Amino acid sequence: MGQALLAARSLRFPVDGVRPESVRDTFADGRPDHRHEALDIMAPRGTPVRAVDDGRLVKLFDSRHGGLTVYQFDPSEQLAYYYAHLDGYAAGIREGMQLWRGDLIGYVGSSGNAARDAPHLHFAVFLLGPEKQWWKGTPLNPYSALRAAR
Ligand SMILES: [Zn+2]
Repeated sequence: MGQALLAARSLRFPVDGVRPESVRDTFADGRPDHRHEALDIMAPRGTPVRAVDDGRLVKLFDSRHGGLTVYQFDPSEQLAYYYAHLDGYAAGIREGMQLWRGDLIGYVGSSGNAARDAPHLHFAVFLLGPEKQWWKGTPLNPYSALRAAR
């Protein structure tokens, strides 16, 4: 169900200057204490990161692992998009604001637990539960949706 919802969205590729075909599917990769359940898009520090879809920016969060992060819902508020390891936020973004596909939200970096010499966008998608909690959902593999993104 979640995958069909995601497939029906026409995503904008979130990182400027990167070809969608170059993204590797590392969703099922192991990490020291969890499955990755996201994709890493490698790009130089400071590369613009853009909203993949229309929808509300629900949370700006600075976490130990993810560093500077953005949580955005899709227009139906059934999906959450998660952007992590940002170097900084775009000027003027704030929680609760409406984002449009392609809006600048921040810049590629290595904040949180990313390697300093390997800046990248860690991008994940979650299927939200009925409570629509930004921090909780079922991970969906965004690989196909990103490969089809423009
Ligand atoms: Zn990652």
